[in-house]
Amino acid sequence: MNNYEFKVKWCKACNQGWVEIVKDKNNEKLLLRCSECMSQWNNIEELSSGIFKEDEVEVVKPEVEVIIKQGWVKYIIKN
Ligand SMILES: [Zn+2]
Repeated sequence: MNNYEFKVKWCKACNQGWVEIVKDKNNEKLLLRCSECMSQWNNIEELSSGIFKEDEVEVVKPEVEVIIKQGWVKYIIKN
C-alpha cells in the first residue's frame, strides 16, 4: 500500500501520512488507517470527529469491488 490508491484524507493525528481505506483481514468490514501512525477509525464520520478505533485490527488492502459495494468510493482522493 505504498501508492496511496485509496487515500481519503491527510492524517491530522500525526500530520505525516495519508489515511487510507483498508479492510479487516478477517471479514469484509472496511475501516480507515493512517499509513504512518497506523491509527485506525471505523468510518469517515469518526475520522472527522477524531474518534479513534479502540481495538486495532489486522488489515489488508481491500478489493475495489468491496469499496464500491459499501459506498466508500466517493471518499477516495483521486490524484
Ligand atoms: Zn497518522
